[in-house]
Amino acid sequence: MLNRADDDSARVTRDASINHGNVAHAVSNHTSQLLERLRFYGQVLAADPDNKTSINLTRSALMLDKSFLRLMYFDAAGRLIHSSGRKPEPWLLDAARDFAATTRPDSSERLSIGKVPLAEYAHAWNLPIIYQPESAGEGDSGFLLALVDLGHFSQRFEEISLGKSGEIVLVASDGSELLRMHEGRLDSVWNIADTERFQLAFAEKTGLVTEPARNKLLRLYSYRCVPSSPLAVLVSRTRDDELLENQAIRRGYFGSALLLTVLMIFLTGLWMLSAHRRRVLIRSLTKAQENNTQLIKQVEKEKDVAYHLATYDQLTGLPNRRLFAELASRYVMRARRIRGRFAVMFIDLDRFKPINDTYGHKTGDQLLIDVSQRLKDCMREADVVSRHGGDEFVALLSDLRSTQDAAMIAEKIIESLSQPYVGLVDAEIRVTPSVGISFFPDDAEEIDTLIRQADTAMYQAKERGRATFAFADPALNRRLDLSNQIEAALPAAFSNREIQVHYQPKVSLRDFSITGLEALARWNHPQLGAVSPADFIPVAEECGAIIELGEYVIAEVCRQLEAWTLAGVPLVPVAVNVSSRQLHSPNLFDFIAGTLERHGIAPHFLQIEITETGLINADSGFIDVLHKLDALGIHLAIDDFGTGYSGLSHLRAMPVRYLKIDRCFIKDIRNDNNDAAIVSNTISLSHSLKLLTIAEGVETHEQVAHLKAARCDQAQGYLFSRPCEAAAVEKLLVLKQIPLTMGEE
Ligand code: C2E
Ligand code: CA
Ligand code: CA
Repeated sequence: MLNRADDDSARVTRDASINHGNVAHAVSNHTSQLLERLRFYGQVLAADPDNKTSINLTRSALMLDKSFLRLMYFDAAGRLIHSSGRKPEPWLLDAARDFAATTRPDSSERLSIGKVPLAEYAHAWNLPIIYQPESAGEGDSGFLLALVDLGHFSQRFEEISLGKSGEIVLVASDGSELLRMHEGRLDSVWNIADTERFQLAFAEKTGLVTEPARNKLLRLYSYRCVPSSPLAVLVSRTRDDELLENQAIRRGYFGSALLLTVLMIFLTGLWMLSAHRRRVLIRSLTKAQENNTQLIKQVEKEKDVAYHLATYDQLTGLPNRRLFAELASRYVMRARRIRGRFAVMFIDLDRFKPINDTYGHKTGDQLLIDVSQRLKDCMREADVVSRHGGDEFVALLSDLRSTQDAAMIAEKIIESLSQPYVGLVDAEIRVTPSVGISFFPDDAEEIDTLIRQADTAMYQAKERGRATFAFADPALNRRLDLSNQIEAALPAAFSNREIQVHYQPKVSLRDFSITGLEALARWNHPQLGAVSPADFIPVAEECGAIIELGEYVIAEVCRQLEAWTLAGVPLVPVAVNVSSRQLHSPNLFDFIAGTLERHGIAPHFLQIEITETGLINADSGFIDVLHKLDALGIHLAIDDFGTGYSGLSHLRAMPVRYLKIDRCFIKDIRNDNNDAAIVSNTISLSHSLKLLTIAEGVETHEQVAHLKAARCDQAQGYLFSRPCEAAAVEKLLVLKQIPLTMGEE
C-alpha cells in the first residue's frame, strides 16, 4: 500500500503531463471549431460583401452562435463595409486600418489577433480576430473582424477543475496572453510576453516545462497548439499542488489501508464468527445425525424386539404358534416342489397341571424351559420346534425317509423328556410327554390340518397310557401296535423256537436248474400267528435282535446243509440275508467261519445278501469283512438292487458276485418301458463288471421271456417256487430242476 503511494509520487509529473495535455487538447479543439466557424462567415461575406442575403445569413448565424459578439467586414483598404451590430468603436476601426496597412506574407490563410489597447480595458473580454480569406480575383480581398466573447468561450471550461493553482491560458504566437482561466473563472488578461518559451511550444506543439514563474512557484505546463492558427493553449499547475494531491491520494491510500485493515479485521472477525457458527452448526448437525442414527437403531431394535415378541415365546425363546405357521408353510412349499415328506409332531406333557399346582408357577415355568431345551436337543438343525402355549409343543421334522424315522425321534423325545428334572425343587420332578404324529403329504397337505391331526393322535397316545406316541394314520398305529407286540415277543421267539427258516430256490434262466437257495426267516407266534419278515425284521433291526436272528439263521442253514449232506441230498449254495448292522458287528466273520467249520460245510455253500441301502454307510472295516468272507469262499450278492443310490460304480470296491434286481423292476417289465430299460441296462452293466444277475419276484412266463431276452442269468420267484420248508425244498434239490408244473401260474 505504502509502496504504491511512493510509486504514485514518482508518477506525478507524467500524470500531470497527461492530464494537462488532455485539457489543453480539449480547449484547443474548441478554439479550432470556433475559428472554423469564423472562417466560414468570412468566406460568406467575402464572396459578396454587399449582398443582403449573405449579410442576413451571417446575422442570423450570430443569433445562434453566441461565441461571437459582432462580425465586421472591411475592404482590403480597411474601410468598413458591413457590421453585424452597431457602428464599430474607434479602436476597432484603428485595428482594421492597422491590419490593412501591414504587409502580410502571402499565405493561403490569414488569421491574426487584433490588439486591444490598454485604454480599452472595458473590452478586455472581447477578443478581436481578423480573418482575410484567400482572394478569388486580383488583389487582396476584404477581411473579417470578429469580436469573440471570451466570457462565453470560457463557459465551456468552467467544469474543468485543476485545483487552486490550476490555469488554462490561451496565448498568441507573439507570446501575449489572450485568456486566462483560473478555478473555472476568467482572469484578467496578463501580458506575460515570454516569446521564447512560446516559440518553443509552437515548435514542439506539445511539451512539459518546469520553470520558476510568479511567486517563484514551480509550475508544470502542458501545451497544445490550435491547428492552422497563431494560437496555443497552456494548461498548468504548481508542482506543490500536484504533490499535495498525490499526498492526499497517499493519505487516501493510508486511509484506505487503515480502512482495509479495519475491514479485514472485521471480515476476519466475521469469518471467524461464521466459522465458529459453522462449527457449532456442524457439531449440532453431527449430533443430530448421531441422534438420528441412534433413533434409527433404537427403532430397528424395537422392531426386532417387537418382531421377536410377536414371533417368539417369551418364556422358552422357542418360535411361537405364529412363527411356526410361517416356517411350516415354507416347508410345505419346499416339500411340494421336491416331493419331500415331513412329519408334524404334537407334544404335550402328561399331568403338568398338578406340577404347576404343587410347586407353583415359577417352578412350572422353569420346567417348561428345561423341557424346551431337551426338545431342541432331540431335533436336527433343519427341524423346527415351537411352543403353542401351556405345555403344548409342536415340532416339524423335515426330510423324513420313513415312518420309522419319525417313530425313532418320537421315542427319543419321550425318553429325553421323561428323565427326572433336578435342581428345580428339592425333590426331583418327573414328567412324561405324549406325542402325536402326522405326515405331509400322507395325512394332509395343509399345515393347520396336519397340526390338528397330530393333536388328535396325541390324545390317542394319552389314551394308550401316556409316555408314548401315536400316528394320525390308523393303519400306521396298527403297525405301531404290532411293532410294539413284536418287540415285546421277539426275545422269547428264539428260545421258544418259534422262528423257522424257509428256502426259496434260484434257477438258471438257461435250463431252469436250481443254482441256489435263499434262506428266509419265518416267525409263527402262538397268538399273533405267522408274522411277516417285513414286520418283524425292521423291529429286530431297531431293537438289536437282528444280530441274534442273523446268527440264528446262519446256524440253522449250516445245520440244514450238514443234515442234507448226511442224507446225500445234492447241495447248492444257500444265501442268507445279513443286515448291515450285523455286518458291522466285530465277531461276524469268526462266527460264520466257526459255524461252517463246526458243521463241516465248505464255505462256498454259504452266500450272503446285503441290501443296496445297507451299503450306504459302508466303511473300510465293513468292506474288509466282505473281502475276508470272499477270500474264504463266501460270495456276496447285492439285494434289492435299484432301490438304493449306490449305483454300479460304487460296487467296484467290493467283492460282489451277484446282483439281485429288485422285484419292483421285474413286476412291470412287460408294460413299463422304463423298467425294461433299467433291467436290460443293469444286466449288461453287471456283465461288463463280471457280475451275475438274478431277477427277484419273477411270477410270470412273460417276465421270464423278457429276462431271457435281456440275458439275465438267474431268477427267483413264485413262478418257480415259493419259499418253503426244508423238507419241501429237499425234493427239488434231489430233482435239481424245477418241474414246470410246479411253477405254473
Ligand atoms: P428279500 O431278501 O428281498 O426276500 C425276498 C422276499 O421276496 C421274500 O419275502 C420272499 O417271500 C419274497 N418273494 C419271493 N418271490 C416272490 C414273488 O414272486 N412275488 C412276491 N410278491 N414276493 C416274492 P419275505 O420272506 O417276506 O422277506 C421279506 C424281507 O425280509 C426279505 O426280502 C429280507 O430283506 C428280509 N428277511 C427275511 N429273512 C431275513 C433274515 O433271516 N435276515 C434278514 N436280515 N432279513 C431277512
Ligand atoms: Ca434277500
Ligand atoms: Ca430282495
